[in-house]
Amino acid sequence: MKKNKKVSDKWVKLICGASNEDIVAIEDLCAIYSAAGVDYIDVAAEQSIVQAARRGIKWAKEVFGNSPGLMISISDGKDIHFRKATFDPLKCPSNCSRPCEKICPTSAIDFSGVKENKCYGCGRCINSCPLNLISENEYNLSKNDLPNTLKAIKPDAVEIHTEINQIDSFRRVANLIKNSGIKLKKISVSCGLNQSKKKPIDLSKALWERYEILLEHNVPLIWQLDGRPMSGDLAPTTGKDTVKLWENIGSQLPPGLIQLAGGTNDKTHEFLKRNNFPDGIAFGSYARKIMQPLIEYADKNNKKLYEYPEKMALAIKEAKNLLKPWKII
Ligand code: SF4
Ligand code: SF4
Repeated sequence: MKKNKKVSDKWVKLICGASNEDIVAIEDLCAIYSAAGVDYIDVAAEQSIVQAARRGIKWAKEVFGNSPGLMISISDGKDIHFRKATFDPLKCPSNCSRPCEKICPTSAIDFSGVKENKCYGCGRCINSCPLNLISENEYNLSKNDLPNTLKAIKPDAVEIHTEINQIDSFRRVANLIKNSGIKLKKISVSCGLNQSKKKPIDLSKALWERYEILLEHNVPLIWQLDGRPMSGDLAPTTGKDTVKLWENIGSQLPPGLIQLAGGTNDKTHEFLKRNNFPDGIAFGSYARKIMQPLIEYADKNNKKLYEYPEKMALAIKEAKNLLKPWKII
């Protein structure tokens, strides 16, 4: 299949990461991808992070007139999107070749351990340690007080991360959102096949159950098929799992916009059939990784990337290349 086949304009979301608190990178990422033309940006449910995202979006609005919606990610239970890696650096042997540090896509690891604000929980480092010293901590900013968080942040949209068996906690979270009184433009539900022994048909049934719960919200819905959530795998073929899931159950999902996520990258569109594209796609790790060197360059000089017009132009060009198969830009 040809690389840059034409498709009609699709919905594209940038995922900054449900546990990502790197506000310097988030501001730059939001500026870059807003300028490139994404429809929505998804960030952690925390005020300082949302403020950073809004600064980036504001810059893109002033310069390019683009202003994507802001979505916050929450979960209805334990969820691998809401975690951080941790280890005790004092236990590391001095002759370790430090594969954990080399593999981390956000330079979150140094001799002092994991820098929490830079770790977004991708999990790549966890299996890299030959001594199994790295573990994960749950890190769920949104669980503390969801109604007040929503009232303070006033997002355009909320994404609820859920798992097939978590219907009761999903109902509770949906009620909390409704009772907060916040008027949302969209509610997104993100679910994959994390639980072993579950089949695509189980996922389809689980999403229909959630559709029944969300009907009374009277808000447009998005179904995010999370093909390979937080696998830490950035290989070009990672998006294949998502595409397979879409081909399996895409026609059996409840009404709403369907978007692919989980391992999506610049190759994902190549695995899709021309006449069977989903409504949209969400880019996470890959979108962040390709911008990391430029963002780090600016950060080292205590500047925002948009303070370097030439480098910012390069970043926007690269972001547009990622969006090209999906958007008319
Ligand atoms: S590799 Fe991923 S999980 Fe490990 S520290 Fe880096 S961002 Fe965090
Ligand atoms: S790979 Fe393991 S032992 Fe080596 S520096 Fe990283 S955490 Fe320490």
